[in-house]
Amino acid sequence: MICPKCGIEAVIMKSEVVVSGDTSPEEETRVESVLKFHCRNPNCVKYGQEVGESRHQIYPAEKGGEDDGKEKRV
Ligand SMILES: [Zn+2]
Repeated sequence: MICPKCGIEAVIMKSEVVVSGDTSPEEETRVESVLKFHCRNPNCVKYGQEVGESRHQIYPAEKGGEDDGKEKRV
C-alpha cells in the first residue's frame, strides 16, 4: 500500500478480523483479515491518518490462493 498523497510506502496501523454472515443460517459465513494502513511521512498531509485498507479472506479459503488485490483508498 502506497500513500496516495506522497507516494511513500504506508505502514500497517491496525489489523483486525471481520466476521460477516454469521447472523443468518442462509448466509455464508465469511472471515476476513483487514489491514489498515497509515502514512509515516511527517511532511505529508495524510501523516498519521489512514490512507487505505487491504482485505484478505481467511474463511472460506479463497480458490487458487492468489491475492485478489482488493485494496481500497480512502
Ligand atoms: Zn503520505
